[in-house]
Formats: sequence, structure tokens, C-alpha cells
Amino acid sequence: PRLANQIAAGEVVERPASVVKELLENSLDAGASRIQIDILRGGHQLIRIRDNGCGVEKEELTLALSRHATSKVSTLDDLEAITSMGFRGEALASISSVSRLIFTSRSAEQSEAWAAKAEGRDMAVELLPASHPQGTTVEVADLFFNTPARRRFLRTEKTEFNHIDEVVKRIGLARQDVSITLTHNGKPVRQFRSGDSDVALGKRLQVVFGQKFLAQAIQVKAQHHDMQIRGWLAHPQACKPSHDYQYCYVNGRVMRDKLINHAVRQAYDELLPAELQPVFLLYFDIDPRQVDVNVHPAKHEVRFHQSRLVHDYIYQVLHQALNEGLN
Ligand code: ADP
Ligand code: MG
Repeated sequence: PRLANQIAAGEVVERPASVVKELLENSLDAGASRIQIDILRGGHQLIRIRDNGCGVEKEELTLALSRHATSKVSTLDDLEAITSMGFRGEALASISSVSRLIFTSRSAEQSEAWAAKAEGRDMAVELLPASHPQGTTVEVADLFFNTPARRRFLRTEKTEFNHIDEVVKRIGLARQDVSITLTHNGKPVRQFRSGDSDVALGKRLQVVFGQKFLAQAIQVKAQHHDMQIRGWLAHPQACKPSHDYQYCYVNGRVMRDKLINHAVRQAYDELLPAELQPVFLLYFDIDPRQVDVNVHPAKHEVRFHQSRLVHDYIYQVLHQALNEGLN
């Protein structure tokens, strides 16, 4: 199991930011409304994430850390229409196979908390009584301590932290209902407060895209059968240069999808010289039965069942919005 987990870890856990993404998604799946992320030394040393979600019962703790254990998908039907962020039951097993992991949790039903410790080598999970309010804290220390080849691929603290910050921004723009804070080496870096959806999102947009963005962006809103598109399109001039400002979500999941990117780029075609990149934040909501999210281990890509139609629809909506917005 150790080897299988470490191989799986290669797919899911590329760098500290991928750990943060998986743990954040778990906290969201657990229904947390507050999430605190603390990073030491770019995540090389420690990634700690604490939530006030549903927690895990003592009896389930060991299972949660084992491979292919998911509490989120129990039937084939569930798998056909996934609504949770996680569903493979792979992340915690993979992460613990390449780090020293402590999972501390208290469920709503229990009066005491328990900590499960797992460390690379043998995957044996040790259970200890702990103290914790309802919710979960996951600590991942010494990432890749037992896979030196992968550890060597880690970049500087600053670069790795920037990747983590990007994950937090991407997920933060999808979940204004959840307050998320991020610290690095003890210093606060992000403080996304939750609140009234539009106000909270507006504030997060300012932080991520800059002050000018909302004033200059074109708002998009369209609905067609099972599919809804919402968001903003802008000219790269609306933001600080030299940054990737392409944010895309399908059913609340962060995506980097070729088909969508292609449709967006095509919509901008006559408006932007080839060397400039469109700036966009787009939320696609589509019947979960019309998309397959089970394509890529890190879940960045989707497969639309009717990909041609989806592509053309996105192109049309955005093309029209851009032309109207500019006239
Ligand atoms: P998946 O998310 O695909 O189910 P993971 O390995 O990420 O797999 O997590 C395994 C299981 O551990 C989850 O199905 C869930 O039951 C439990 N779990 C993980 N993180 C949390 C959390 N923050 N709060 C509550 N339960 C959690
Ligand atoms: Mg998960």
C-alpha cells in the first residue's frame, strides 16, 4: 500500500499548494464556514488547516486516512452526479504517505476530540486523545521528507507560498459564504471575510484583480437550458500586468479547461492582439449529469458530454457580451 500511495501522491501532491487545495476542499465538503490556513516556510515545513466543519468520529478517523476511503460517494449514481469537491478518497492517504500528518477532529456528536497520526513509511495510524472544538485541524509537516527526489523539485519558499496563495484566491472567489484566512510564517496574508454574497465577492474581487477591475469589466449573465454562465470579462489593461487573470469555475470547482479557454479566447479574437491574454472570471453551472469531473486526478479538467454545443454556446454568449460592452 505504501508504494501505491506514493504513486498516487505523485498525481495528487505535486507541491505544497496541491496539499492546500485538497485540504481546503475537504474543509468545504465538511460544511465549514470558517477556515484558517497557516503555512510555515512556503509549506516545506508545515501546512496547517483548521475548520469548523462536521468533523470525523473517532471510529472513522483511521478509515479517513486510508486509501479509497471516501464518505462522499456511496453509490454509482452518486458518482454520475458528483456535487462534493472530493470523491476519490485518495488525498489524505497520498499526502500522509509523503509527509508527517496529524488529523485532529471532533464531530458534533462527540464530546471529546481525537488525533490520528500517520507518517510516510508504514501508514500505521496512531490514535490519541486530543483537545479540539467541533471541526478538524490537519497538520502536514515535512512534505516529501521520504521522497528526496520530489523534495528537490520544490522551489523557493516564496514561490511555493505564491502557489498556495493562488489556490486560496481561486477557491476564495468561489465561496464568499466561507471566511478564509491565510498566514505565512505567522504573518497574516489574506483575510477573506464571509458575508452578504455580492459585498463579500466585491471585496475579494478587488483584492485579487485590483481596484480598477470592477469599473472596467463587462458583466455576463446568461442561461440556456441546463447551463448558466455568470461572471466578468475584461481587457488586460484593467489589471496589473504579468499575472494570469483567468479564473474559471464549473459547478463551483476551480477549472483550467482547454475547451472553455478556447471558447473564451475565440470570443476575444478580434479585440485582443494574440500576445495579450484575456482577463476573466467565469462561473459555469451545469447539470452535474452533463459533465464528468472524474477525468484528471487533480480535477482541473472536466469533460462535457455535449462539448461542441457547450463550446459554441460559451463563445456566443461571451462574444455578444464583449461586443455590447464595448459599444
Ligand atoms: P475524499 O475527499 O475524496 O473523500 P480524502 O482523502 O480527501 O478523500 O478524505 C477522506 C475522508 O476523510 C473524506 O471522505 C471525509 O470523510 C474525511 N475528511 C477529510 N477531511 C475532512 C474534514 N476537514 N472534515 C471532515 N471530514 C474530513
Ligand atoms: Mg478530499
